[in-house]
Amino acid sequence: MQQMITQGVVLRAMDYSESDKIITILTPDHGRITAILKGVKKVTAKMKFASQPFCFAQFKLVGRGDMLTVSGATEIENFFDITQDYRDMVAGSALLEMADTASVVQEPDHLLFSGLLHALKTLATTDTDPDVIMMRFALGVFKITGYAMNLRTCKTCGKPLNSDIVRFDVDSGEFVCIHCSTNRYIPISARTLEVMQNMVRLEFPELENIVITSTEAQEFHQIIRANFLIRFGKDLRSIKA
Ligand SMILES: [Zn+2]
Repeated sequence: MQQMITQGVVLRAMDYSESDKIITILTPDHGRITAILKGVKKVTAKMKFASQPFCFAQFKLVGRGDMLTVSGATEIENFFDITQDYRDMVAGSALLEMADTASVVQEPDHLLFSGLLHALKTLATTDTDPDVIMMRFALGVFKITGYAMNLRTCKTCGKPLNSDIVRFDVDSGEFVCIHCSTNRYIPISARTLEVMQNMVRLEFPELENIVITSTEAQEFHQIIRANFLIRFGKDLRSIKA
């Protein structure tokens, strides 16, 4: 029996048996892991909090390989406020789903873990627009996984994108100018691209003053969804078109 102590954020939980659940946790040193939470569905269960998505805790795990059992959990910070507001909840669920998709089982990823923590903290404790947090996190995920988006120049001809009408190419997941556009594209407003160019240089606490319209939020969703489909083959359930 091995014992492992690690920080982690619960990404999802599912029923396993009458009284147990299986939780999926993102950790800095062990990547994505799954573990059994025994007896957690009983009313009096002490570790009930650890069976909820958004739980950020110190976990004690025993077992080996992919047969881990949670033997202890201590809450580090509470992000459950996210679930009290509809837009926060949608964005928060998207953050967890993106982290789940981009992470690798048993593979350390400190950048992804700290990115998720900062994004959740900003969502739970500030008035920053949830869609801005979501887009900034997605840009970070694309960069970490080797798919950094080019926000400055047309993917095909290399000319600067700023003044031209910009299109998001659905097949490549990149921006192209109007001259290089293929048939499958989403038109993107100049302001959406400008906001993305700005935010990519900012850390999460610096995003608070960015104000976006619902059209821009919509375009963020389309860009994120299309890229997750292209890069990871995953149609994000948490973001609807
Ligand atoms: Zn071009």
